[in-house]
Amino acid sequence: MRITTVAVIGAGTMGAGIAQVCAQAGWKTNLYDAFPEGLERGMERITSFWEKGIARGKTTEGQKKAWSANLHPVSDLKEAVTEADLVIEAVPEIPELKHNIFAEIDQHAPKHAVLGSNTSSLSIADIASATSRPENVIGMHFFNPVPIMKLLELVQHETCSSSTVALAEAAGAAMGKTTILVRDVPGFATSRLGVVLGNEAIRMLADGVASAKDIDTAMVLGYKHPMGPLALSDLVGLDVRRDILLNLQVSFNDDRYAPHPLLEQLVSEGRLGKKTGKGVYDWSSGQPEETDTGF
Ligand code: NAD
Repeated sequence: MRITTVAVIGAGTMGAGIAQVCAQAGWKTNLYDAFPEGLERGMERITSFWEKGIARGKTTEGQKKAWSANLHPVSDLKEAVTEADLVIEAVPEIPELKHNIFAEIDQHAPKHAVLGSNTSSLSIADIASATSRPENVIGMHFFNPVPIMKLLELVQHETCSSSTVALAEAAGAAMGKTTILVRDVPGFATSRLGVVLGNEAIRMLADGVASAKDIDTAMVLGYKHPMGPLALSDLVGLDVRRDILLNLQVSFNDDRYAPHPLLEQLVSEGRLGKKTGKGVYDWSSGQPEETDTGF
C-alpha cells in the first residue's frame, strides 16, 4: 500500500514533530488538535524549526515551501482522517482519552488505514480493542525531538498483522528513522531499560557510591553513553520515570522495578528535574550542577 495522506492527532511536543517529519517525507499531512491554541503552537513549532534550519544553512527556502504545502492544520477530526492511509495518535498518556480517540478515528478513517499510537507505556492491544480493526493498529513510539532522533520503536500486539508492520516500517524509513520491532510488553524495549538504569543510578547515589556527576561520567566515558543516567532522568522528568517504574512494578508483579525511595522523595518535594529547575541536579544555571539530595 502506498501512503499519500497522513493524519497526526495531537499537535503537542510529539505530534508537531511527527507531522513535521511526515510533511518532509512528501505526504499530505493533516495535523489535528482538539484545542485551537494547541494546533497553533504545534504549527508555530514546525515553522520555527524550518526557519532555524534556513538560518543555519541546513534547509533551503524551496524545501520549506514544499514541506509547508504538504502540511495542513485541521480543526475537525473527521476531516483530518477521512482520506488518511496512516493515522498517528499523539494525545496525552491517558488510557480513556486514547480509547475514545481510537474509537472516533475508527469511525471515520478509510478501512485500509493503519492506525499508530505514540504511547510510551500503554498496552497497544488495549488501545486496539477500541477499534473494529485491531489488526491495523500498531505502536509507533517516536523520540523527542522527533525531527532529530533516529529511532522509531514499533510495537506489535498479538493480532497486529504483518502488513501493518510492513507499512509502519516503510513509513519509518521514509521519515528517515531506523525502526526496531518489539512485542507489546510493558515498557517495550526503550522505556524498560532506560528506567532501570536510571533507578539503579539513583540507588548508587543514595548508597554513596559516588557523586551524581561521577556516576554520570562513568557511563559517558566508560560506556560511551551520550548522557549519564541521572542527567537523562532529570531531562525526561523524575515523575515520568517514577510513573513508568510503578507501571512496570504492577504489570510484571516484580519489585525489581520499585522506584527507589530517593526517587520518590525527590518527586514528592517537587524536584522533577530540569522542567522544575531541580531534580537530582540543580539546573538553575542551565547546566546540571551537583546539589544535596538530603537523603
Ligand atoms: P503534549 O501534552 O505535549 O501534547 C498533547 C497534545 O494533545 C496537546 O497539544 C493537546 O492539546 C492535544 N490534545 C489533548 N486532548 C486531545 C484530544 N482529545 N484530541 C486531540 N488532541 C488532544 O504531549 P506529548 O509529550 O506530545 O505526548 C503525547 C504522547 O506521546 C503521549 O502518549 C506520550 O506518552 C508520548 N510520548 C511523549 C514523549 C515526550 O518526550 N514528550 C516521548 C515519546 C512518547
